[in-house]
Amino acid sequence: MAVPLIDVRAHRARIGNDIDQAITRVVQGGQWIMGPEVAELEAALARWIGAGVHALGCSNGTDALVLGLQALGLQPGDVVICPSFTFVATAEAVANLGGEPVFADVHEHTHNIDVASVQAALERARGRGRRVVGVIAVDLFGHPADYPALRALTEREGLWLLADAAQSFGAATPDGNVGALADVTTTSFFPAKPLGCYGDGGAVFTADEALLHAMRSLRVHGTGSDKYDNVRIGHNARLDTIQAAVLLPKLAILGDELDARQQVADAYAAAPRGPGHHPTLAAGNRWPGRSTPSTPTAATSCSRLTAEGIGNAVYYPILLHRQQAYTRFRATASTCRCRSGWPSVLSLPEVTPTSPTSSSTRSPPRCATLAAVAA
Ligand SMILES: *Cc1c(COP(=O)(O)O)cnc(C)c1O
Repeated sequence: MAVPLIDVRAHRARIGNDIDQAITRVVQGGQWIMGPEVAELEAALARWIGAGVHALGCSNGTDALVLGLQALGLQPGDVVICPSFTFVATAEAVANLGGEPVFADVHEHTHNIDVASVQAALERARGRGRRVVGVIAVDLFGHPADYPALRALTEREGLWLLADAAQSFGAATPDGNVGALADVTTTSFFPAKPLGCYGDGGAVFTADEALLHAMRSLRVHGTGSDKYDNVRIGHNARLDTIQAAVLLPKLAILGDELDARQQVADAYAAAPRGPGHHPTLAAGNRWPGRSTPSTPTAATSCSRLTAEGIGNAVYYPILLHRQQAYTRFRATASTCRCRSGWPSVLSLPEVTPTSPTSSSTRSPPRCATLAAVAA
């Protein structure tokens, strides 16, 4: 591909040497598990988010969800409402703990969980006598979900709110940064995410000391006062020291990378576009994710883009409530957008430049090519 969808190596030209040296330091230091870089990264992540939020590194974004759900007290049989249009891990974590994911619809413009559909799902689940305990919002393609409305609903109904921010670390909203908008926020450092490491990694964020304490314990086998005191049934969900060492210099340039992504997003927004809904970002929000104009004619566009050497993907073409393993769970009646006439969502390349200057010279021609293909 002349223009890859996600160029996970783009940062190497700018900070590759720093990262290689950091890896070597970890290798030579010998503290390969929970070495000092892990605590350093946790402090840096917490500083990025602000608002008194704490950060804990962990093994991946799926385990981050499990740690968060378990700390929030999810019991077998409890209902958790989540969107049907998301990566499978969102619902998988609930099901693996014995919970019942109930699928709500997403808003047709933002592709994020629809608050009216959450309310409908809640009432239906309560109607069949189930204990509904919480809502998982997903910031799909980097767009923060409607947290003010979700918070109002969850506070009114006595539920917790978990933010699956695997695709949105670095995003900002007028109400605060992603990481500070829900009771617990989880993220992934899978290489293709906005902040990616060189393998698997993840993190959980919370401002609640009791939840932090529980997740810290659950991350290492449910430890209590020491390693051989086990007060919870936990996991081995630690973050490798090498991954923390990779993430520290990457976090230091994340702000520049987000600015460059925003330029690409702005160029897409300004380009002539075909029919279909195009995800829009609420005013004041900062977009860390992939540029994702959507179009009902994704199939045609895909092959034309591919022929032009422009990376593209249709993420999550099969909604979760239609996946073989998940059909036994319920979807709300209003999951109509998810049922009929649901357009595929086409994801287009982002450009993660090696330096801020190269983005302005590289992105406009790419977007012009794209507009020509789409016209
Ligand atoms: C990537 C992703 C996850 C899982 O993260 P891993 O690090 O791959 O386990 C969870 N939820 C969403 C929305 C994701 O995109």
